[in-house]
Amino acid sequence: MIDVVALGELLIDFTQIRSNDALVKRFEQNPGGAPANVLAVLSKFGIKCAFIGKVGNDVFGEFLRKQLSDLSIDCRNLVSDPKHNTTLAFVTLDDKGDRSFSFYRNHGADTCLFEKEIDLELIKACRIFHFGTLSMTHEPSLSATIKAVEYAKACGKIISFDPNYRAPLWGDADSAITAMKSGLRYADIAKLSLEEAQMVTGKTRPEDCLKELLKYELSFAAITMGPQGCAYATDKYMGAFPEYPAAVVDTTGAGDNFWGTLIFGFLSNGANFDRISEERLSEIVLTANIAAAMSTEKKGAIPSIPDFAKVRAAFEEINGK
Ligand code: ATP
Repeated sequence: MIDVVALGELLIDFTQIRSNDALVKRFEQNPGGAPANVLAVLSKFGIKCAFIGKVGNDVFGEFLRKQLSDLSIDCRNLVSDPKHNTTLAFVTLDDKGDRSFSFYRNHGADTCLFEKEIDLELIKACRIFHFGTLSMTHEPSLSATIKAVEYAKACGKIISFDPNYRAPLWGDADSAITAMKSGLRYADIAKLSLEEAQMVTGKTRPEDCLKELLKYELSFAAITMGPQGCAYATDKYMGAFPEYPAAVVDTTGAGDNFWGTLIFGFLSNGANFDRISEERLSEIVLTANIAAAMSTEKKGAIPSIPDFAKVRAAFEEINGK
């Protein structure tokens, strides 16, 4: 039994490295792609996961397949494309550890996934289907994504959505907004950055954005706000947490660490936000907020996933337990 299936981009993040505490023009090869990062968190916490996507039949594709397999993520539906290369992204960091991206993705293998290549049995067997919008920037992966999410929805799966807007990958912001809105129409639970939430809703304040997001019939919505922490809502409760203090080195994957940890809490508490108590809900979100902050203290998205015991200990310290 697979608990969580994610579909989307899997690529190489060439992350800028530091030498003697200064950023230099050298780059380190790391696995990248938000849906896979979310699975990496869940798998590390003991949840059974599978990934659907496409890489090139090249050294980078092999590297990515091995990385996911080593994390015990089921890769039976990770397709190798003999014609297109694995997508590459160069991630440059500023002094605060914040990132900007340069993508090398013209016909990148991740955008070349076809509907017919999706293993629908895998989706049928899962509890949660997770996706974003990077697989919606180009055909054929756009149609493949829609087909997969529609199938998951028809099978009654819980649909999880994190748009992961990356401006350089979209011709214009309106196309990205259209894709984000279409993703939200399928979603049951969703996480957006404040920028994404503002783009989709046209509101400014997180609480106003959340109210608008819930109109998409979400049972849970979260807005992450980087160094300002996060806000969240169900149709009964709304709350927010300031950032958990962290000695930030690299924020890559902080949002994915947040969402992976949140889904873990969701699954561990009956996977139903309609019936959850306010206290338990805030416990789940606070835990995700702490895990995300801790993940910024190390480089990369996957290598920085904190031990759950450490996250839990920090949670208990905050609550005076
Ligand atoms: P992504 O860029 O991967 O889509 P995102 O934009 O959703 O991610 P952020 O909002 O930057 O991610 O961060 C996610 C979470 O990580 C925040 O809600 C917060 O919990 C934590 N976080 C990020 N930056 C910091 C920071 N400087 N200090 C403490 N916590 C942080």
